[in-house]
Amino acid sequence: MKNLKLIGPITQVLTMERLPLKGALKDEQLEILENAGILIEGEKILEVGSWQRLKKEFPQAELFELEGNFVAMPGLIDCHTHSCFGGSRAGDFAMRNAGKTYLEIAQAGGGIWDTVTQTRKLRLEELAEKTVINSNRHLSDGVTTIEVKSGYGLSVEEELKMLRAIQLANQSTPTDLISTCLAAHMKPRDYEGTNSEYLQHLSSELFPILKTEKLTKRIDAFVEKSAFSPEEIGPYFKKAKEMGFDITVHADQFTTGGSKVAVEFGALSADHLEASTASEIALLATSNTISVALPGASIGLGCAFTPARKILDQGGALAIASDWNPGSAPMGDLLAQASILATFEKLNTAEVLSGITFRAAAALRLSDRGRISSGKLADFILFPTSDYREILYNQGKMKPKMVWKIGSLEVGGWRFGGLELGKFGS
Ligand SMILES: [Zn+2]
Repeated sequence: MKNLKLIGPITQVLTMERLPLKGALKDEQLEILENAGILIEGEKILEVGSWQRLKKEFPQAELFELEGNFVAMPGLIDCHTHSCFGGSRAGDFAMRNAGKTYLEIAQAGGGIWDTVTQTRKLRLEELAEKTVINSNRHLSDGVTTIEVKSGYGLSVEEELKMLRAIQLANQSTPTDLISTCLAAHMKPRDYEGTNSEYLQHLSSELFPILKTEKLTKRIDAFVEKSAFSPEEIGPYFKKAKEMGFDITVHADQFTTGGSKVAVEFGALSADHLEASTASEIALLATSNTISVALPGASIGLGCAFTPARKILDQGGALAIASDWNPGSAPMGDLLAQASILATFEKLNTAEVLSGITFRAAAALRLSDRGRISSGKLADFILFPTSDYREILYNQGKMKPKMVWKIGSLEVGGWRFGGLELGKFGS
């Protein structure tokens, strides 16, 4: 064994082990290891357990001895963002809050089309650089895996530019970027043809290039009255599935219909669900499709939250993501938003933390992260507290002091703190 690192003693390690993928949880189900150490070999966790024992058994390990109290949990996973974009929609935000309607904002040059215009203006490298800046900000908040969608290009060439930019950004940030093609965000204003023709054009011209360039494994669509109907999106998803892509859906945000399509096509996740009623919630609960709540969009728009409590009580799998985007969810703070959702929807700590760790990983078809246990990637974060409940209690203001990504300390402590090794404390 070589390249061993031992981190500890850690007051509490929340392993997130032995919690099911679906359904409501109780805080008593959380596994909490006290005075523990995390032993890393290369990029993976070798063992987690008693600090004293690990220190004795692995004297050859490089020691990262902590002073003060720390709580460790898996690196956060944000399974739904639009954090690759150009421009700002501060004008939309101000107008919306001043009582202007969606139509008035669009007529004044706002809305998604504004972001499309601003994103198209940027060169691939500029777009990648912006994405890296956003990703690194997210990383310092403890997010070690970020899903990033295209969808502000809305032509074959511009969508390719976005996905290539995300790929380039992924090489320049320690956090993992998981790309998703959202060319079916809306039919672009400059496309002459029907919705179905646009989708057909994408599946025949864009999908093959996504495959050959390995730009993404995931296809998303905005299924909504104002975007694409379930009938229109059917053939698009069918083609995507035939070509081996995973499906994910923007579903039931303002009108229902999307979640049914998601279940029908075996989508990995159905995201939004603010408008879902009892029948959609029941259908999702019987499926393997993960429900993703996006409280950032509810906060940004001043709309209802996803019925997260009902989804869990019905037996569904619930993940929570930031939806970070320039229009409806500009905050981009996953932990703050998850904490706020918890108070409104009455989600306990186990349910919230599961929703931003292993349950979010499942929405991305990732089984190598989201828990702290032997064999998982060494992605974990350390908060300066002795009590795990402080993390959500601080509603996003408590940031991790250290962020470990695939076995490297990327944020905090020894690398940036300018503090003596082993003297990094509370
Ligand atoms: Zn979204």
